[in-house]
Amino acid sequence: MVGKSPLRRYQGGQSVEMYQVVVVGAGPSGTIAAYELASRGVDVALLEKYRLPRDKPCGGAVMYRGIHILGGDLPRRLVEREIYGLRFVLPNGSAPEFSSERLIGITTNRAAFDHYLARRAERAGAHLVEGLPVEDVMIESDRVCALTEDGDEYQSEFLVGADGVNSVVSRSLGLRPQRKDLTRIGLGMEADFAVGEPRVKEACDGRADILQIYPQSGKVSYGWVFPKQEHLGIGIAGAGVHMKRLRPDFDGFVEGLEQRFGFELTPEKRRTYFLGGDGLNSKNVTDRCILVGDAAGFVDPMMGEGIAYAMRSGRFAAEVILDLLRKGRSAEQHLRRYQEKCRKAFSSDFEMARWAALKGTSFADSVLRQAAKLNLSCEIMAMLARGEIGYSEIPATVLRKLPTEIPHLIRDLVYDRVRS
Ligand SMILES: Cc1cc2nc3c(=O)[nH]c(=O)nc-3n(C[C@H](O)[C@H](O)[C@H](O)COP(=O)(O)OP(=O)(O)OC[C@H]3O[C@@H](n4cnc5c(N)ncnc54)[C@H](O)[C@@H]3O)c2cc1C
Repeated sequence: MVGKSPLRRYQGGQSVEMYQVVVVGAGPSGTIAAYELASRGVDVALLEKYRLPRDKPCGGAVMYRGIHILGGDLPRRLVEREIYGLRFVLPNGSAPEFSSERLIGITTNRAAFDHYLARRAERAGAHLVEGLPVEDVMIESDRVCALTEDGDEYQSEFLVGADGVNSVVSRSLGLRPQRKDLTRIGLGMEADFAVGEPRVKEACDGRADILQIYPQSGKVSYGWVFPKQEHLGIGIAGAGVHMKRLRPDFDGFVEGLEQRFGFELTPEKRRTYFLGGDGLNSKNVTDRCILVGDAAGFVDPMMGEGIAYAMRSGRFAAEVILDLLRKGRSAEQHLRRYQEKCRKAFSSDFEMARWAALKGTSFADSVLRQAAKLNLSCEIMAMLARGEIGYSEIPATVLRKLPTEIPHLIRDLVYDRVRS
């Protein structure tokens, strides 16, 4: 236990509360950081702008490498669909599929998922304050101060900026570029379509346990169709600089799906959003402060996947802060260990994703179609999604597992020859 009780003072009507750590933002990154700290006895305040549950534009696909951080703490009601595979529907109509017998992720409703994570942090001892936007953050020699819209002040030894892609913490501290720099962030549009369970299955060709990704050849990078219980989550995304015609591009993508599925799709509400990015090329720590999740830009540059990276970076931040609280240190040079942990864990994933995105859809077509024929590819996809290996470990894994694949390869080759 390294905790001590929060203090409350009053200065001219405004309250000043003191904690060991303040976490700004109760999304996946902030709630995991708050939980990890609170469950080890640290006094943590978790400040959230909105009352929970709050809405969040998101496909809601959470890869297993994120879920497993919860250590089995995931109530069944939060699982819309268990996911066992990925299907890439390419512009030329081919649809290579990778599926596994092992769970690779889930789809969920983000409002409910994040609400649960916030309550979990609260149960562990975090002081959750809802409906409280932080407006500014200031670092002083012996503390960091978060100022709220009401003029109240939350002081702490460390602060975690987990306030998403438009992070006020990051802007206050001048850490990352403003959100309007469209060269460094993604932009997209998404909507839920309440089609009912039978049509969810129909749209997934009977397999409502597969995420459908639609790589695009124009300015839009990709689209997606994610199965929920009664809904389809549908969206498009791309580099911010290219996404000038969001609404017509989105409607065009949905029209294409209507033709493919053979039924009409009526969106509940179209939502525009920014996606974080470029996280490993910018500064995410400064004295007493750490950015996590989207605030730090930890989003896969090809697919926009960010939840698992948010959860993992929240945990890394908590580990580094716990260590510094025990040792009584605070300087930026010590907090940089967080940046190193994230670089080690995420850089090969992000680099590979960026490289694959630059190669375009014809490359995706040839590689994915060939790879989908191999059992080994499906196994590697599952290992990646489950966090058992990173992208940089793919070559070694292939070499290790290839001997068991050779009999299948020979059988397929013979079969192809006999057929032709
Ligand atoms: C449309 C869309 C679809 C996506 N689909 C997927 C997907 O299917 N799978 C996936 O893995 N990733 C997906 N992502 C990315 C994913 O949503 C993010 O990477 C993830 O939410 C990041 O979590 P976070 O905790 O860092 O930030 P957030 O989830 O954005 O949480 C930030 C929190 O901070 C709060 N906050 C903001 N400002 C303040 C303030 N000033 N004071 C206090 N609180 C504040 C917000 O209200 C919010 O609760 C998608 C993103 C979008 C936009």
